[in-house]
Amino acid sequence: MPPVFRFAPSPNGLLHLGHAYSALLNFDRARQTGGRLLLRIEDIDATRCRPEFETAIYEDLAWLGVAWETPVRRQSDHLADYRAALEKLSALGLVYPAFESRAEIARLVAAREADGPWPCDPDGAPLYPGTAKSLSADERARAMGAGAPYALRLDMEAACRLVGGLTWTELGEAPGGERGIVAARPEAWGDVILARKETPTSYHLSVVVDDALQDVSEVIRGQDLFHATSVHRLLQTLLGLPAPAYRHHPLIRDEAGRKLSKSTRSTGLRELQRAGVSPAGICQLVGLGQDSLGFSKTPP
Ligand code: GLU
Repeated sequence: MPPVFRFAPSPNGLLHLGHAYSALLNFDRARQTGGRLLLRIEDIDATRCRPEFETAIYEDLAWLGVAWETPVRRQSDHLADYRAALEKLSALGLVYPAFESRAEIARLVAAREADGPWPCDPDGAPLYPGTAKSLSADERARAMGAGAPYALRLDMEAACRLVGGLTWTELGEAPGGERGIVAARPEAWGDVILARKETPTSYHLSVVVDDALQDVSEVIRGQDLFHATSVHRLLQTLLGLPAPAYRHHPLIRDEAGRKLSKSTRSTGLRELQRAGVSPAGICQLVGLGQDSLGFSKTPP
């Protein structure tokens, strides 16, 4: 079977140089290996994703010269797949509803910090401080019956106990320089959110379901998602899904060393195009040659 790669942007803004780098690395690697390149639209966050950004993704990638297979998988069209995975995890007894609002969580964290620093996840957000895991079945039913909003969280401790130690194959560069067989540390994330009352999935859940459904064999993405891979390996194992290899790449940064965001206009592909930069110029800006892109210099 040929290797399968994917570029998986979220249509919540316009693409910038960092996306171009990721897309070009995937495209290049697929060409070098005789593999397939898929494009996936990760649009489960209905409040931030917009159809015009999806259209812009197609236009900007085509302008760059990236070619992908169709049909494109749009996550919002496949909520039933994620719901099925969530039910599997629930059947293992690993999912519980938590009813605190963001403001209540912030208050709980502040209260706990009175006794010393409260731990944060690898993205810098405080771990879930609540106690919803220990609510009785009656209390849960009552809150749900009253129509309270909730997040469905993974019981991380129980999940880790069930699967034991996990690793993944890192073909790229971890932020800390690790590569090869890397030990996963999902516990660093605490009880992550898997779904919400109104959305039957989350980034973590849909990404592992889709990578498996689409037979993705090598995930090439930015180092900002390196630590999330620990959660992905855990969910894959719980759901009995295969593990792709991972190749996390360094992030493109602005002159001040900051990670690019979709609102960083000077590094947006459209801005650069308007300023007269060609697709070959974009390759050069992200440090890739025109024909033989980055990974050709560092084969696995
Ligand atoms: N949709 C994610 C993003 O735009 C990328 C997900 C992934 O590559 O796993 O940041």
